[in-house]
Amino acid sequence: MEILWISGLLLVSVIALIIYRTIRFKPPVVEATESPNALTPALDEARIISHLQEMIRCKTVSYHDQSKMDAQAFKAFKDLLKAQYPLINATCTYEEVGERGILFHWKGKHSDASVVLMSHYDVVPVNEDLWSKPPFEGVYEEGAVWGRGTLDTKSTLLATMESVEYLIGKGFQPEDDIYLAFSGDEEISGMSAPAIVQTLKERGIHPKLVLDEGGAVVEKVFPGVVKPCALIGVGEKGYMDVILEIDGKGGHSSAPPARTLVGELAAAVVKLEKSPFRAIFTPAVKEMFETLGRHSNFFYRLIFANLWCFAPTLKWLLRRQGGEMNAMIRTTIAPTMMQGSSAFNVMPPKASVGINLRLLGTDTVESAIGYIQDVIDYSQIKLTVAESRNASPFASTKSESWQLVKEAIEATWHDVIVSPYLMMAASDSRHYCEISENVLRFSAMTLSKAERELIHGNDERIKVSALMESVSFYVRLIEKL
Ligand SMILES: [Zn+2]
Repeated sequence: MEILWISGLLLVSVIALIIYRTIRFKPPVVEATESPNALTPALDEARIISHLQEMIRCKTVSYHDQSKMDAQAFKAFKDLLKAQYPLINATCTYEEVGERGILFHWKGKHSDASVVLMSHYDVVPVNEDLWSKPPFEGVYEEGAVWGRGTLDTKSTLLATMESVEYLIGKGFQPEDDIYLAFSGDEEISGMSAPAIVQTLKERGIHPKLVLDEGGAVVEKVFPGVVKPCALIGVGEKGYMDVILEIDGKGGHSSAPPARTLVGELAAAVVKLEKSPFRAIFTPAVKEMFETLGRHSNFFYRLIFANLWCFAPTLKWLLRRQGGEMNAMIRTTIAPTMMQGSSAFNVMPPKASVGINLRLLGTDTVESAIGYIQDVIDYSQIKLTVAESRNASPFASTKSESWQLVKEAIEATWHDVIVSPYLMMAASDSRHYCEISENVLRFSAMTLSKAERELIHGNDERIKVSALMESVSFYVRLIEKL
């Protein structure tokens, strides 16, 4: 009887504690400093639109097959930057690094700190038949500029250039040195960015901030949060391509063996799917839960405020759900390329499956190989790593650089929640982790889910309102540097 009383009391206390923590788990009260859009820079919208149109007309498409590259288009783009931005060209030093890298250096009043604003001007190929407007004409219709590169990411490059040109025009000079670093082969993981990093490293430059494309101002990405969120990538997952292969005897399919190669391989894939990598709340993700969770509805606040109790439930839920949230808390395994015989009636002498992994920082290429081998536990299956790199380090949200970016965001967008997040995709910025602790990834634009799907897709276009916000953001950021 006494035990019943004690258990009952304990249960009531735990429930009370959970509810108490949930009620207290609210967004912090912030004092409004600069009211959004109060100091909107007087930008020339028509000029900005026409500049983007001209950039889109340069067919700077990156192909893995070098022979398909249109070298003239890349040259035309560089020439365009000289023509469009006379003040930058008169004030900043310009150099070409490697075949496609572009580096502008705007000297600050003091040269003891520096900032790199990154972007890339190459784009992925298009399938013109699937576009409803020509992808390389820079059509301006329905309040948007259409074309390949409008979102990814000539708009970012344009926004940095427009903001610098505007500020030079106003007689502004930054406190810190500013580098505008543009690569021309990001889409094929080319050598521009590593070459620029090498150049900066040789000059002893350790930027206090490196800002590249990444998260954006988005809605409906976090469970239960309705407000728009500005997500800043503070790290990137690692990457690994693995081939699992099994050899044996081929033969006629009319008398198959009891265990086939394809069957063995399929069993290995099923094992991997049933034993996903361990879920871990890394510091960046914990902070994201801590920041965004406070703005969520009561049900999710209950969970995020009480991870001490609900972490296993949350991990289980995310595993069942899959997708982006699940990918933020574990190394993912995606079997993508399965191959066996090329005929129905031929048993293959060899079967293979290609698997793509995205590594959480807590796993390395070596530990992931070990994990896969342990799970498969079948020595006949050979594992080869085709490509790999470990996850990037995390940037801190306690730095002055984070604060500057956060303030520039809050001054540009109304009522937005700024939060760190972990990026799934790879960007050129990872190379900069070699010379800077503060590499942040934020594409300064509002993007709906539908717009995010246009990136690398058909009918890519950017709303002029988003473009103007982007330029305003960079003006505000640079004014703070
Ligand atoms: Zn991009």
